[in-house]
Amino acid sequence: MSPVTAWQDDDARSRELSARLRGVQERIAAASAAAGRTAPELIVVTKFHPAADVARLHALGVREVGENRDQEASAKAAELESLSDLRWHFIGQLQSNKAKSVVRYASAVHSVDRISLVDALSRAVGLEQERRGRESLDVLLQVNLDPAAVSAGDGGRGGALPDELPALAERAAGAAGLRLRGLMAVAPLGADPREAFGRLAELAVRLRQDHPSADQLSAGMSHDLEEAIACGATHLRIGTDVLGPRPAMG
Ligand SMILES: *Cc1c(COP(=O)(O)O)cnc(C)c1O
Repeated sequence: MSPVTAWQDDDARSRELSARLRGVQERIAAASAAAGRTAPELIVVTKFHPAADVARLHALGVREVGENRDQEASAKAAELESLSDLRWHFIGQLQSNKAKSVVRYASAVHSVDRISLVDALSRAVGLEQERRGRESLDVLLQVNLDPAAVSAGDGGRGGALPDELPALAERAAGAAGLRLRGLMAVAPLGADPREAFGRLAELAVRLRQDHPSADQLSAGMSHDLEEAIACGATHLRIGTDVLGPRPAMG
């Protein structure tokens, strides 16, 4: 049975997802009201959860979904091809040799962190445009907000260093097939997310001075969405609080 039909929209899992989704939407509404701003876009991060859950979420009105591994994401996107208004956001570390696969299904890549990946995505989009006439790809530059971890040699939680952003932005803005849309970051573990997202917001202001259309800020996960909204996030990436704990897998 296809994942689109392998469930009933009144099944227990759909009711659970509906209640959790409503809870998250209420938190977003409250935090947005407190910050005096319109609510950011919610991207539901469906990694590790089955395609049937994505179909359930689609029936509940969700259209923006996030995934962090190409193999899993491309399989789900293929299974759910009939839900053609779903938009897939790729949010994970990406090897350049996976660019060709990712551009077949993704509307946006939030985790662009180096020039070689910009070039690989640009080439891959060009091929997809010739073959299937796909639209240009939205790209966000991932920023590492934990420079201490970088100098300690473990790369922190991924992303380019703030110093590397101007050159990376220039390359992305000039790359055929790509639209530079903004910045993405994950708050460092064990640090105050408000302070980290504050630094991210300053970097975003600087980026917009050179690239006015790069007006998106992808920040905020289940445990720090309120802080991200207070700092101006335009896109939240929420997994656990909508879907529940991720099943153990790979
Ligand atoms: C998994 C993931 C999320 C969602 O995290 P939750 O804590 O489950 O809400 C957000 N962003 C990235 C980059 C992720 O990998």
